[in-house]
Amino acid sequence: MSGGVSDRLLALPRRTALQEVEKNLAKSEVGAAERALLHRDAVYIALDLGEAACAMTHALSALELARACQDGPLQVKAHVALALVQAEFYDDLGAGVQFALADGLARKHHDDRGVALIAVNTSHYELERRNYGEAVMVLTRLLRSEHVRGLALPESLGLLNTFHVNFVVAAAEALLIGQVPLTDQPGAEEQLQFSASFLRGLQREGGMASLEATAVLDALTRYALWQGDLTAAQQLADEHVRLTGQADVPVLHGRALLDRSRVRGQIGDLEAAIDDAQQAVEHFGAAADGLWESRARETLAEAYARIGRFEQAFEAQRAVTRGVERLFRDYHQQRALVGQIAQQAREAEVHARAMAQAALSDPLTGIPNRTQAMQVLARLREQVVGGGPVSAIALMDLDHFKRVNDLYGHLTGDAVLIEVTRLLTAELRSNDVLARLGGEEFVVILTGVTLSEAVRLCDHLRATLQRADWEHTAPGLNMTASFGITMLSAELDLTATLQAADRALYEAKAAGRNTMQVAPQLQYV
Ligand code: GH3
Ligand code: MG
Ligand code: MG
Repeated sequence: MSGGVSDRLLALPRRTALQEVEKNLAKSEVGAAERALLHRDAVYIALDLGEAACAMTHALSALELARACQDGPLQVKAHVALALVQAEFYDDLGAGVQFALADGLARKHHDDRGVALIAVNTSHYELERRNYGEAVMVLTRLLRSEHVRGLALPESLGLLNTFHVNFVVAAAEALLIGQVPLTDQPGAEEQLQFSASFLRGLQREGGMASLEATAVLDALTRYALWQGDLTAAQQLADEHVRLTGQADVPVLHGRALLDRSRVRGQIGDLEAAIDDAQQAVEHFGAAADGLWESRARETLAEAYARIGRFEQAFEAQRAVTRGVERLFRDYHQQRALVGQIAQQAREAEVHARAMAQAALSDPLTGIPNRTQAMQVLARLREQVVGGGPVSAIALMDLDHFKRVNDLYGHLTGDAVLIEVTRLLTAELRSNDVLARLGGEEFVVILTGVTLSEAVRLCDHLRATLQRADWEHTAPGLNMTASFGITMLSAELDLTATLQAADRALYEAKAAGRNTMQVAPQLQYV
């Protein structure tokens, strides 16, 4: 069990649950964070249903939204969901990357629950690959770390249950086949006993959603096998088969049948074991789950061989070989499909970023536009209000620019605007911002300067334009600009500040242009 979806959704049939999540996603009033969680729920449900492309699409949306919210724990959840999708399609490398990203984020944000979630999901990943020893190790590491606190939180009840389910499955199987190092065995056995009694407690309480109840039955069956209590194992396996028969996840029913086949085989009831394995093969076939179909056929082949029906054992084994070939082919097709979705998502992300960038830039000169300038100014003013470094702004307007257009044409006018941008950008410090407000009007934002420094810097910019060689742009052309300077302050809001700079600019124009003026209220400071 992976331990993801909320309890309420767990109780619904998978198909209904997916529809409900998609219905909620379609509501316009749902916020980004909540939307990310809904997409994540959809991932887990789509995985239950074996729908690759659907799971991948939702996982990518969850991650995109989680990133947009800049919510650490939410991003952890999204990375984990993406890891599970990739793992499901045998992209172990990709899954490893997502788990690692999630882990880094969770630790950075001291997100104990996140670390626990990753451990539990990693153990699920290892269990699916039948790496029982690895799964024990992952869960034991969590138990021994401070992050185990994450399992004790009120919102972690489902996760805690999954922890115990996974521990019981992992430890019982690993101990049976000797995958736990000798020195670790006593500890693993002790925890196994504890987790098993925890699960029995859950059973006694009742009220579990059927998916959870089947997982608990599965775990306790394996525990009984480890204890050598075949009677208990058989009872549990029967109940497991019965319960999964009522759920709408054929794969789970197939797994329950396969597990019971093994129990029946151990008891020596080989005909019954064959019967279960045969049914499991059919269920996996119906669910188009090639991997588990092959596993079931293998079990079937073994059972036939044990009973001496070698002809049928051979047939079953041959079907495994054919199945594996088909699996290999499907796997490549599926990976191609999933890869395509991931690629589209990456392109969409690049596109969205480009659009966002474009919305903030001036198309002619490529420098920030008015919108971005206002964003920067608002941020800098916040700093000033908060007692941080002060910044200056200068409105700059080219002198007699209309004449350039009239004399040389509009294209030359455009070239002048581009050249002005180039010249000024080269003179500015890396923290300063030059933005085009419109027409031939710019704003220069000088961060962390005093008024006298601002005046000195603006005078340098003014002289740069005056001294520049404009002959390249148009013969006989000269270009100058006027500046109106003011400081960002806590007292004046942005509109009032820009008005003050505008008045100063007007004074500079009136004073004969190619000069600068400081805002009236600062002139005697
Ligand atoms: P002043 O010294 O008083 O600022 O005089 P001015 O001629 O620069 O000011 P005015 O506001 O009268 O004219 C601005 C001109 O800028 C008018 C408009 O045609 C031109 N302009 C505005 N945007 C662009 C542009 O994108 N490209 C070009 N080539 N010209 C533009
Ligand atoms: Mg002008
Ligand atoms: Mg103007």
